[in-house]
This record gives sequence, C-alpha cells and structure tokens, in this order.
Amino acid sequence: MNSESSLVCDFCWRHCHIAPGHAGVCSVRRNEGGTLVTEGYGKIVALAVDPIEKKPLYHFFPGSPTFSFALFGCNFTCSFCQNYAISQKAYQYDRSNTQGRCMSSKDLVELALQKGCHSISYTYSEPLVWQDYMIEVALLAHQKGMQNIMVTNGSFSQEALKRLLPLIDAFNVDVKGNELFYRTVCNGELHIVLDAIDFLVKHNAHLEITTMLIESLHTQEDVANLGKILKNLGVQVWHLSRFFPRYIMQDVSATSEAYLRRMVDVASLSGIPYIYSGNSEVENATYCPSCHALLIEPRVGRSRSKNLSPSLEKGICPHCGSSVYGVFA
Ligand code: SF4
Repeated sequence: MNSESSLVCDFCWRHCHIAPGHAGVCSVRRNEGGTLVTEGYGKIVALAVDPIEKKPLYHFFPGSPTFSFALFGCNFTCSFCQNYAISQKAYQYDRSNTQGRCMSSKDLVELALQKGCHSISYTYSEPLVWQDYMIEVALLAHQKGMQNIMVTNGSFSQEALKRLLPLIDAFNVDVKGNELFYRTVCNGELHIVLDAIDFLVKHNAHLEITTMLIESLHTQEDVANLGKILKNLGVQVWHLSRFFPRYIMQDVSATSEAYLRRMVDVASLSGIPYIYSGNSEVENATYCPSCHALLIEPRVGRSRSKNLSPSLEKGICPHCGSSVYGVFA
C-alpha cells in the first residue's frame, strides 16, 4: 500500500474508501499520507457521571453511576439529533472549533475511578467512529476490573462487532424506526442495525434497545411492527423515549406523555418482557414477567434503587424463582 492509495475504513458498515487527504462520510476518519487516523483522537467533547439508567440501561448494575464521555462525530445525519453539537459535522463546521480537551486513556480511567464509577460509558455521540480510542480506554478499564458500556446507533461492520464483543460488557442500541425512516431521516439502514442486534443476542451480550418516538412520525403500526421484529430477534429490554425538538426538527412538536403511554401499551403486546418509558415523568419500576412481583423500585431522581434482594442479585425473582434478564451484582 503506498501513500497514493485509497484506504478502507472498517469501523462501520459503510466501509468508506478514503483517498489520501480526504475523510470518510463521518468526517472523523481520515487518510493522512497513507494511514487512517481519527480526527480528534482523545479530545473529550462531553463528560459526566450519569446514573446508569440514563444510558438507558435498567438491567445492568441498576442504581450505579457510570462515567460517561464522548469524542466528536457520527456516521448518521438524523435530523432530530438530540446531541447534534457534538455529533454532526455540519454543525462542527459552522462553529469551526468544537470545544474539547485532550485526555489520555490512562487519565480518563483514573478519573472514572476517582469519581467512584465502576463502569465507563461510550455515549452521547457515536462511538463507532472513534472506536480506536474507545478500545484503548476499554482495554485499560478491563485491566482495572471496570465494565464497558457502549451506547450506539448499531451500524457496526462485521469487523467492528467481532472486535468489540470481548471488550464491551453492555450495549444500548438505538432502533430508530422503519427502513424508510432510516433512509429519509437518518441516512442509515435499519437492516444493518437488526443484523447487529441478531449477532449480539446470539453471542449473549447484555443488550437493551432504545427507540425515540416522534409523535407525528412514528405510527402505532410502526411500534407494533418493530416490537414483532425485536421480539423475534430475542430482545429482552426495550426503552421507548419521548422526542423533544432539536437540530433540524425544531418545528416538530415534542412527544406527549399520553402518546408515549399508549405506545408503551402497544409495545407490551409484542411479548418483549421488559418495556420502559424514557424522557418521561412516568417512573419505571421493574416487574417479574412471570409473577408480576415488583423487583426494582421506581427511580428516585434519575437513578433506581441499589438495594436489591440477594436473590435478584443472582438474577432470580425472589417471589417465583424465575430468571430475570440482566447483570445485577
Ligand atoms: S467510521 Fe464509518 S463513516 Fe466513518 S470513515 Fe469509517 S466506515 Fe466511513
């Protein structure tokens, strides 16, 4: 390979062929003199300690804080993006200098431990496009006995899935709508995301799915159809969350609580055992799908109870002995 050749990036399903001096679709991965580099490597554009429920993950160490950060970038262009300032290249170019500070992976993991976190979440933007930095941090985090959490649009390449599976302990994958919605609103492809979900389920990864519902765009039929698809793939946990006007969709109304409640009822008919509402006033408890006993109290603030029964810590319902999906201790 000489420095005049295009290089292929395998970080996501697009497999961009990138000519020297150019970038891939995400604008993050660049061919610099015959080497693929990640622009903004190590430059942290968002960082916070969040309740793990905010990812959202409800069945993975509930009640714990997770150290969350992002580098800049995304490989989709969703017009409703809730975090466009740190993900969308059009916005980056407008501002021409996205804020951020460089941190080594070592400093980042040490800071997470100092903050009392036992997990690190790669979140807010799309970690697939900065997965080389994510991998560097995740390897160190594992060495320190910490957990790794990836919040992603799920548009993995097969290579990325195989690379990341041993390193990521829990995934939250967005499923944004039907195939037409992906192509017209997101510049993505639903079937790629569903293939990734299939892979993660078959490899026993901890997986929760999130769908942000836009009241004027997502129909009841959309929710019912997605529910059927996700159930058939073996999904156990589905979060339905409210949309608020952002980015290009400023003039689309926020999703109402009443609509969300109706869609949660529709989703429940899918047979997926754990359905939750997000960005909502509704408090989410966890119930046993077999005997309907209360397993985890509704959240206080944004977090939920840490006081789990010894039985539930082993993933067993203390009331009927059925297994409960997740990792609790
Ligand atoms: S991360 Fe995806 S969009 Fe970005 S250059 Fe690589 S293949 Fe292309």
